Amino acid sequence: MGMLLAANKAFNLTAIRDPGEAWTRHVLDSLTLLGVLAEIETPEGQSLRVIDVGTGGGLPGIPLAIARQDVSVTLLDATAKKCAFLDHVAQELGLTNLEVVCARAEAAGRDRGERTGTGRRGGHREMYDLVVARAVGRLATLSELTIPFARVGGLIALIKGAKADEELVEAKGALHLLHTSHAGTVQTGTGRIVVLEKQRPTPKSYPRRDGEPKRAPLGVANK
Ligand code: SAH
Repeated sequence: MGMLLAANKAFNLTAIRDPGEAWTRHVLDSLTLLGVLAEIETPEGQSLRVIDVGTGGGLPGIPLAIARQDVSVTLLDATAKKCAFLDHVAQELGLTNLEVVCARAEAAGRDRGERTGTGRRGGHREMYDLVVARAVGRLATLSELTIPFARVGGLIALIKGAKADEELVEAKGALHLLHTSHAGTVQTGTGRIVVLEKQRPTPKSYPRRDGEPKRAPLGVANK
């Protein structure tokens, strides 16, 4: 957290500058996802794979990677200066379970890697057991940015605030098009976690091109 606050002066990563407030607002809020993570069985002989979409200064991904060093965490952000900061933090903390990917979610979500004899190597589409995100837009937009990363049967856990229910209603069409159901909403000490479960593969047409999920959220009538 100290590193985040120090870097914040240079990079303007977060609006919160008081260390005590930062701890509860950011770290505890991120760690509320540990409960969801604990429910996912680790595949035999492999580590669980988690991706944090739009991680910014590393939230919730870095606190999760520290708390669960048996889990492999990918931090994804489109902004180069944030990725540079994240690379620096990963190195300073000596965390070997962190990977930083500097890309837009729309592009990484289409990246299927290379075909090998036994499966696929590299790539991000449908590669993760759990997809997390915090403060990256409303559910109708965020669902298209996150769901493509989850494997079939995988979970998407999104940290939301008071508007969770309202956003879920608006995202109904998007969830239907993306073959994903609402598994439940968990009330936590700092907010709410909307948990989604991917039922079937994401149709090839999603995610759409850069900027479209935000400009014209799926299943929401254009006004
Ligand atoms: N999750 C962090 C940061 C939220 S700010 C936190 O809770 O503090 C939103 C972040 O999402 C920004 O860093 C922005 O660069 C990133 N972002 C927004 N749209 C994105 C997209 N389409 N692909 C990748 N990153 C995106």
